[in-house]
Amino acid sequence: MRAWAFLLLSIATVPVWALEVVATTASMGMLARTVGGPQVRVTELAPPERDAHQLQARPSMIRALRDAQLLVAVGAELEIGWLPAAIAGAANPAIQPGRSGYFEAAAQVPLLETGQSADRAHGDVHAVGNPHVNLDPMRMASIARALAMRMAQLEAASAAGFHERARRFADEVAARAPQWRARAAGSAGAVLHHKDGLYLLDFLGLPLLGTIEPLPGVPPTASHLQALAQRLASSKGIVIHAPYQMPAGAQKLAERLAWPVAALPLDPAAGSDATAYFALIDRWVDTLALAR
Ligand SMILES: [Zn+2]
Repeated sequence: MRAWAFLLLSIATVPVWALEVVATTASMGMLARTVGGPQVRVTELAPPERDAHQLQARPSMIRALRDAQLLVAVGAELEIGWLPAAIAGAANPAIQPGRSGYFEAAAQVPLLETGQSADRAHGDVHAVGNPHVNLDPMRMASIARALAMRMAQLEAASAAGFHERARRFADEVAARAPQWRARAAGSAGAVLHHKDGLYLLDFLGLPLLGTIEPLPGVPPTASHLQALAQRLASSKGIVIHAPYQMPAGAQKLAERLAWPVAALPLDPAAGSDATAYFALIDRWVDTLALAR
């Protein structure tokens, strides 16, 4: 009887997953879940309805990082305001930068806007290049393959499954890419509040017509908006901002230019799978297609 009870207790406490993963954003969580499948349990730190540039380290983040075997971050300083502090607080040697338990998406793909004369002193938050790689499905496919390699390194017994699921994700992106590009073709491009949709514009071959922010992370001024409106007068386009960005600048510019304006999330909902990510790209593509 006692042995039976002990067995039940053992079954109840042994986790069914092999890797404890913490992802900084919902997009990174989606990718970790997609590649890891049932072999991983994924906890996400940043709520997708908040600006990942502007968060602060919280006790819940530190708790989550304490038991993590793999941390999947965006990198390129997107999380610089809170992740280093949370990692330090967790005191978990496995997920320190440079260890195999620390993975940065931005380090796996070529970045846009590197080597520019970024000016931290003036508040530029993209000083080492644009970190918003998650809205480019092609780069996400490359990152999925790199993540599969890393997971395989940490959990060799599940390697075949990690590689197979990354390949399926990449195949799905490759199958959808021509449709996304065809749907967006002929769009005049967009003014973004922040340069967060830049990789998607690049993927679709559409121009970034301007930004509401004069520099990444710096709030708009009246003179900047005035100059933008003059430059874009009598041209076509659309203004896009994230739901958490102050909409006033985007709305004012759209009104002056008689352009449509849209609020679009940068990440799928918390806990999303690849289907939700592809639906987010669909939404962006269909919105960009309105700029005609
Ligand atoms: Zn940014």
